[in-house]
This record gives sequence, structure tokens and C-alpha cells, in this order.
Amino acid sequence: MKIIDAHTHIDYISHKHQDDVFESICCTTDESQWIDLVNIIKNDNAVYGAFGIHPWYVDSVKPEFDERLEELLLDNDSYMVGEIGLDKYKPYLDKQINVFEKQLKVAVKLHRVVFLHCVGAWDKVLNILKQYKKSDLPILVVHDFHGSTEILDFLLNNYNVMFSFNNINKPEYIKQIPDDKIMVESDGKKDVILFDVIKKIENIKHNENIGDIIYNNTQRILKNG
Ligand SMILES: [Zn+2]
Repeated sequence: MKIIDAHTHIDYISHKHQDDVFESICCTTDESQWIDLVNIIKNDNAVYGAFGIHPWYVDSVKPEFDERLEELLLDNDSYMVGEIGLDKYKPYLDKQINVFEKQLKVAVKLHRVVFLHCVGAWDKVLNILKQYKKSDLPILVVHDFHGSTEILDFLLNNYNVMFSFNNINKPEYIKQIPDDKIMVESDGKKDVILFDVIKKIENIKHNENIGDIIYNNTQRILKNG
């Protein structure tokens, strides 16, 4: 089976460690990692990059970070935006909203795939998404979804969304999400064996081709389509 890690971080690039994993999409968490990820990508063509500031790290944002993000993305058409979003249980929610809005604006302007982190704040994320015409929004890759099945339904019906999972604690999510919208991720955790995550999805979906479908789904993201 060929697997792509659809969401990891620079400290654990899973294709270097797991035999079935061939490529990894790496998300940054703060601006200091942007240059590190650019260098990793230059030295390993199996790494794809998403650049952004994670909601847990908004405390350290520097002025005009969004202008530098835009400049960086303009350097390379394959660069995506992530990991960005909101986390209700972490400090500085107002600042998180401001930083998320600025980064989303850049992603919309350049039409780059967005890797989204949302914990307990779907009402706020949906309010921000509403500021845009749906057709103007890029693909949103929701990672480690934890919301209600109603929110899940709403996202599936209204936006161009994909979902990546590193655990299958809630099989109902997997049942609800169409095969062509699921991916797998390590999220930088060494103990997440992507092959095992796919096997769990295969059992829930009763579809022995799901590994290939998941691979193709992630390839589609890399082609921004
Ligand atoms: Zn992450």
C-alpha cells in the first residue's frame, strides 16, 4: 500500500520512518519554522509544505507576518497554507481570530489549500468563512475533526472540505464522510502508524480499496484540485 501523510510537522516526517509512507505534507506552527521547512523541501522532494501560524502560537506573531506569508507563497506555487485555525481552549482567542482571518485572506487571494485546526470554535470559524463567497474559498483540509455530526454535515454540504484523521475514536465520522474526502495523518506523532489508521477506516467502510482511494484523495490535494 502507498500512503501519504496528509498532515505532519517538521519534527516527525513520517515517510522517513514508516515503510508504507512515501510522501508527507508538513505544516508549520509558527513563523520561525518557515525557513526550516523551505530547506527541508529543497532537500527532500517527498515533502510538501503548508506555511502558517498555528492558533496555539499566536502569542509570538510579529507585525506584517501576513505580508511575509504572501511573499513566501508567491515563491512557490506548490506551497499551501497551514496549520491555521482556532482553539477555544487555548489563550488569546481574539488574537487567534485576527491571525486566522489574516492568513485565510492570503490563502483565498492566492487560492492555496488550507490546513485547518478547529477545537470548540466551529461557530466562529463558520462566521469567518461566511465572509467569503463559497466559490472563492480554496479546499479546506480539516484535521483531527472533533465537532458534532451536524457541523460535519454542514461542512460537507457547503464547502470544498477534506478530512484527515490520526485516530478513529469516533467511527461515526468515518461513516458520514464520503470515501473521496478522507485522508490520514500522523500530526507529528511517532506512535500513529498510518497503515493501521487506514486498516481501521477499511473496516468501517467495508471497502478494501479505501487505501488507494485515500492515496488518490491526497494526491488531488497536492494538485490543488
Ligand atoms: Zn498539526
